[in-house]
Amino acid sequence: MLDMKSKNQTKKCISCNKMLHFDLFHKNKAMKDGHINTCKSCISNTHKEKRKNDPNIKMKDKDHYAKYKDHYKDYRNNKSNKEKLTSD
Ligand SMILES: [Zn+2]
Repeated sequence: MLDMKSKNQTKKCISCNKMLHFDLFHKNKAMKDGHINTCKSCISNTHKEKRKNDPNIKMKDKDHYAKYKDHYKDYRNNKSNKEKLTSD
């Protein structure tokens, strides 16, 4: 019984596959055991990775926005041309 109790205080991290104490997991009421499945250190690693990749993501967004802006500009030009044609 005592062994089981101590077992219940650990949880396997799905990211590093280590059995870790609940203290090393962030709490989340939505989870069955009240803790998320990824340990704190794995999450902070993920955040670091994300931050490292952030400039690329931003550049991609910018690229996408530029494309969209051009598309929108074309649409607006077409629209204003049409308006010109109809008003003339
Ligand atoms: Zn982990």
